[in-house]
Amino acid sequence: MENLHRLRGLKSWSASSLNLAQRCSFAYYLKYELNIKEIPLPRMVLGKHIHKWAHLFCKRYKKKGGIPFKSEESFYNQVKGDWIRNYYVKPIEKVSWSSKEEIFTLAKTLLKDLCINYYDMYKEETPLFTEHKFDFIIEGIRLRGAIDEIRKPSNGKYFIRDIKTGSPKPTKEELENKMQFIIYALALGSLAHKHKEVREQIGISNKDAERWYGNPDYLNDKIIVEYLHLKSKETFPVSFTNLNYYNLLDAIEQTEKDQREGNFFPTNKEKNPKICKFCPYGTIHTISTENLVREEFEKRRVYERPNSKDLTLNLSAIPKFKEIVYPRNLSFRFPRKN
Ligand code: SF4
Repeated sequence: MENLHRLRGLKSWSASSLNLAQRCSFAYYLKYELNIKEIPLPRMVLGKHIHKWAHLFCKRYKKKGGIPFKSEESFYNQVKGDWIRNYYVKPIEKVSWSSKEEIFTLAKTLLKDLCINYYDMYKEETPLFTEHKFDFIIEGIRLRGAIDEIRKPSNGKYFIRDIKTGSPKPTKEELENKMQFIIYALALGSLAHKHKEVREQIGISNKDAERWYGNPDYLNDKIIVEYLHLKSKETFPVSFTNLNYYNLLDAIEQTEKDQREGNFFPTNKEKNPKICKFCPYGTIHTISTENLVREEFEKRRVYERPNSKDLTLNLSAIPKFKEIVYPRNLSFRFPRKN
């Protein structure tokens, strides 16, 4: 299926790729076009670890028919044990730790707080689905990803929840413009409209689902997306309208155009210091990296012309992380035309 979409020239967008493109189109180009693998920051792996255990918690809860851990302490101990194993004893990936001590400090502070809060919030009830994958096409745009939680409907509304482990509490404006959440709400509405089994599994009424997928709604206030700020246990709900759907399409269209035309600009570090502070490409981003990436982009442009035989990929001068993954199969990305 993946290859089929590629052959049809359909670029796919996930909530995280679009999010990155909007935060910094230069970082997006490094990650998704040049396939330069980042070395994640400690907070990123901690978030991933919590999400893994949240999923396991719910799976075990369902299997057992009740709370699968004796106490919040025993839940935390299991999560911590797995954390130390995966990042200290036998590391499963490289992480840009400031020192090895940081692994233990995080385990004793943030990881502990998040585990205790999670246990407290989920001991009575778990969601219907966790890490629910979606992959669909709407108006020629392929969207895919996974929703952290789909929850039981209540009072005629359908609930999606996204767990945030490191981000600050959002403002109303940030929530209303969060493309990630618009994609999730759209995914639920579109899939429910098209698939009876999705409606049945989640308990969405036929009458509600019929209205979605542009019939006449893409989005409406029946779907609520909640931002769970796990550190404070606060949830911030938001719903969307068709206007948000058109904003999403505009954002994708503009981002694709920028990437096609090489308008990938580094974010303004002075205006957005936080974006750069938490960017895993921060250590390799220099002026000379920018020049090299620009040269690389121009080469690819040449390669896109019919009969061009010119493709020499030289990213070797980009300052390296300890480990850099080079793109392997560029000819597939830009096939020759003759
Ligand atoms: S350090 Fe800042 S400007 Fe550079 S790639 Fe990261 S987010 Fe973009």
